[in-house]
Amino acid sequence: MEHGLHSSGPAGPLSRDFDMVAAMMSLLLAAALAGPAAGDPPGRGISEALARERTSAIAAVRYELTFTIPTDRTAQVLGREVLRLSLKAPHRIVLDFLSARDRVRDVHVGGRDVAPLFGDDHLTIPAEATRAGENEIAVEFIAGDEALNRNDDFLYTLFVPARAHFAFPVFDQPDIKARYTLTLDVPAGWEAVANGPVRNGSGDEGTAAGGRRLVRFAETQPLPTYLFSFVAGKFSVETATRNGRQLRMFHRETDQSKVARNRDAIFDLHAAALAWLEEYTAIPYAFGKFDFVLIPSFQFGGMEHAGAILYNAAGLMLDESATQNQLLNRASVISHETAHMWFGDLVTMRWFNDVWMKEVFANVMAEKIVNPSFPALNHELRFFLGNYPAAYAVDRTAGANPIRQSLANLDEAGQLYGAIIYQKAPVVMRQLEMIVGEQPFRDGLRAYLRRYAFGNATWSDLIRILDARTPRNLARWSRAWVEERGRPDVSTAVRLNSAGRVSRLTLTMSDPLARGLMWPQRVQVTLGYADSTKSVPVNMTGVTTVVPGVAGMPAPLFVLPGGGGLGYGLFRLDDTSRHYLLDHLEAIADPLTRGVAWVTLWDNLLESHVSPGAFLDLALRALPMETDEQNTQRVLGYLTRAFWRFLPAAERPARAAAIEPMLRAGLDRADTSSRKSAWFSAFRDVVLTPDGLAWIERVWRREETIPGLTLAEPDEIAMALELAVRDVPSAPRILQTQLERTGNPDRKARLAFVMPAMSSDPAVREAAFDRLRLVENRRREPWALEAMQYLNHPLREAHARRFVGPGLELLREIQRTGDIFFPTRWTESLLAGHRSREVAATVEDFLAKELQYPRRLRWTVLSASDELFRAARDASSPAP
Ligand SMILES: [Zn+2]
Repeated sequence: MEHGLHSSGPAGPLSRDFDMVAAMMSLLLAAALAGPAAGDPPGRGISEALARERTSAIAAVRYELTFTIPTDRTAQVLGREVLRLSLKAPHRIVLDFLSARDRVRDVHVGGRDVAPLFGDDHLTIPAEATRAGENEIAVEFIAGDEALNRNDDFLYTLFVPARAHFAFPVFDQPDIKARYTLTLDVPAGWEAVANGPVRNGSGDEGTAAGGRRLVRFAETQPLPTYLFSFVAGKFSVETATRNGRQLRMFHRETDQSKVARNRDAIFDLHAAALAWLEEYTAIPYAFGKFDFVLIPSFQFGGMEHAGAILYNAAGLMLDESATQNQLLNRASVISHETAHMWFGDLVTMRWFNDVWMKEVFANVMAEKIVNPSFPALNHELRFFLGNYPAAYAVDRTAGANPIRQSLANLDEAGQLYGAIIYQKAPVVMRQLEMIVGEQPFRDGLRAYLRRYAFGNATWSDLIRILDARTPRNLARWSRAWVEERGRPDVSTAVRLNSAGRVSRLTLTMSDPLARGLMWPQRVQVTLGYADSTKSVPVNMTGVTTVVPGVAGMPAPLFVLPGGGGLGYGLFRLDDTSRHYLLDHLEAIADPLTRGVAWVTLWDNLLESHVSPGAFLDLALRALPMETDEQNTQRVLGYLTRAFWRFLPAAERPARAAAIEPMLRAGLDRADTSSRKSAWFSAFRDVVLTPDGLAWIERVWRREETIPGLTLAEPDEIAMALELAVRDVPSAPRILQTQLERTGNPDRKARLAFVMPAMSSDPAVREAAFDRLRLVENRRREPWALEAMQYLNHPLREAHARRFVGPGLELLREIQRTGDIFFPTRWTESLLAGHRSREVAATVEDFLAKELQYPRRLRWTVLSASDELFRAARDASSPAP
C-alpha cells in the first residue's frame, strides 16, 4: 500500500510521569487482553487470541464466493459462500462478519441447517456441528457495503487491513491464507477483475439472461484476506505484451490522447519492475496473470492486491506538463506495488504488527529499481530529506512509538501507520543492508522468500536468516532500532594537540530515555575545512567511539557526525561547529552536507542550543545562495516554522520586513515553476508588512501577474484565506468574491465551510469551532482540518486558547469516527499555531487527568505537542 500522504508530527519533552502512566496502561491492557479462550465469546474485532485459536485449529481453507451486484448502487449486494476447511478435531468455527445477525440469511454445515451464534460481528458454528477432517459451511448473506466502495457505474473492494469481514463471512486475519473461487453476477456491459484469471474466457460467453453477465474466476493461489479483491464496472481495457507476459490495464479515462500518451510508459514501468524483481529475488512472479486498475480518487497511491493492483488514476495518467517529480513518483508507486507481489503477497506478515516490513521492503526495492532511471536527481539528499526530518518529528518526542508495536486487536491496526513506519523504517532497513552487506542481504531475502512462499513470517524469522549471514549480533541491533522507541543522543569532542592539530575525536552516544539502549550504526563523520570536507566512515557501537584515522589532521572548522546523510540521532553540535555553521553554512559546497547541516541545526534549535534569531539570520543569508531545490524547500519550511512558532510575536514585524524582500527576490530569480511556487508559498505564509499584503492582494485581484508562475484556483483561495486571517480591511469582501469566482464545486463548498473560521468576529469563530463538535461536520476531514488550522492561526492564538481543551476532549470520538490519519492531523491543526505557556499547561493538565487514556492516542497528543512545549519553554527562558 502506498498511502500517498506524509503524516509528520512536531511534538514534546513531557517527562517520566507520562512514561510511567503509559507503562501502567500497557499492564492494564495486557491483563484485559489475556482472553478469550476457546469457548469464551470471541469479543469485538479480531483479537490476537481469537486469531491464534483459529490458526491452530483450522487448515486448508477455501472460499467459493458469489456476489450479485445490482445496477442500482443503493440496492443490496447479495452473496453466497461455500467455505471448506479442515479441522483436526471438532472445534467451534468463529467467522468474522460485520453486523452478522442482520445480514446472514441461512447457514448450512455439511448440508444440515445450523443455527449459528451471533455476537460482536462474529457468527460462531458450535463445535457440535463440526467434525474432524473436511467441513463444508454454506452461508447466504447480504454483503455489507462498508468496504465495497460503490459508485454509480463501478465498485471496488479495499479490505486492508481487516475489512473483508465488512463484506462477507471470513477469517479476517493475515495468516489464514486461503484459495478463493469467485463468481460475479454483474450488469451487462460491466467489466470484472479479480485476483484470478477469468475462467469462462473473454467476450460474450459470460453473458447471462436479463441484461446480466456472469463472470467466473479461476481459483487463486493462497491469499490473505486483505489481498483478496475484485473490481466491477464500466472500464476501458488496454492490453500489452511485455517479455512474453500479457499485462492488462483497466481505466475510466475518457481523454483518448491522455491514454495514448501514458499507456506504453505505464506498461513498460510494470514490465521493468517485474523483470528486476524476478532477477533480484530469483523467484518468478507467482500469481499467474497480471492486471491493474486505475481508480479515480482512490484512497491510497496504490494497493497491491495479488494479480490485480489498484492505483489512484491521477498518479499514473499524467498530463503533458508532468514534472520530473511526478514522473519519479509514478515510477516509484508502480515499482512499490509490484515489489509487494513478493514482499507481502508471496510472503505475508503473520500479524499486522509487522505490516511495516512489507512497506519498507516495497520502498527499498522501488528505490533500487527506479533511482538509476533518474540520474539528474540527488537521491542521497532525497532519501535524507524525505525520511529523516519526518521520522525525527515523532522519534524526538515523548510520543514516539517503536517500529514494531504490539497489536492486541486488528480493529486497532489503523493506528500503527505513521512516520515511524513510513520514514524511520526505511532508514533502519538501509542500516541493516549496510551492516549485513549488499550481497548477503539479497541472498538472505531470497532464502526468506523461498522458505515462507505462500505462507507467513515474522520480523524475527527474517532476522534469524540474516543473522546467520553476519558476525554481528542482529538481535541486539534489532532491539534498539525496531522493538524500542526513540533515537540516540550523540555528542562530539575534538581534542587538539599543542600544534593545533587533531589528537583525538570521539563520539559519545547515550539513551535520552535512560534505558541504557545503544543504537549500533554506520555513520560518516564529516570534518569541514575552509574549502573542502573530509568524510570518515565510523562504526558506532557503544557509548564511546574513537573516530579512526583523524589524528594529526588540521583542526576542523566543524564536525558533523550525521555526514553523508547516514547517521540517525540527535547530533549535538559542539560550540565551534555550531558557531561556524551559523556563520558559514552557505559556503559548504556539497548539497547533501548542507542538507544535513540544516537538519542538525534545526534539531539543535529545538534543544535550545541555537536561537531562533540566529537561525533566521542564517536562513536569510543562505537561502539566496542555495542551488539545490530540495534544500531550498526544506529551509523555506524551517523559516516559516521558526518565524511563527519560535519567534516572539513582538519580533515578527521587524523580521518580516527583512524576510519578505528576500523571498520576493528568490521568486524573481527562480527558474522553474515548481521553484517559483515554493518561494511564493513561503511569502504568502509569512507576509505581514503592509507592502507585502498589498502586493498579495493585487495578485489575488489579478491586477498583477508573476512571470513564470500560473496561479490556479487553489492558489487564489489560499491567498484569500491568508489575507482574511490577517484581517486586511477588505477581508469579508475578498472571501465573498473568492467564493463567487470559485468554479470547481468541491472547492467552492470547502471554502464556504471554512469561511466562518476566518471571521474577525470572535463569536463567529467560536460558533465555527462548536460546529466541529458534530461528527457530520467532520465527514470531510480536510475541510475540518483547514477550519481548525485557521481558527488556531498564530495571529489568533490568544483568543484560540479556549479551543485547545475542548479540541483535545474530542480526540477519542475523532478516533472512533475518523480515518486512520485524522487523530494526528486534528491534534496538529489544533496546536500548530500555539506557543504559549498557558496552552502547554492545558495539554499537560489534559493528559494528567486522563489516566485511562488509550496509549496510542496519548502518544498522538505528546507527539503533536512537542514543538509547543519547546516553544513555551523557550518563551520563559530565552535560548543562548
Ligand atoms: Zn505498500
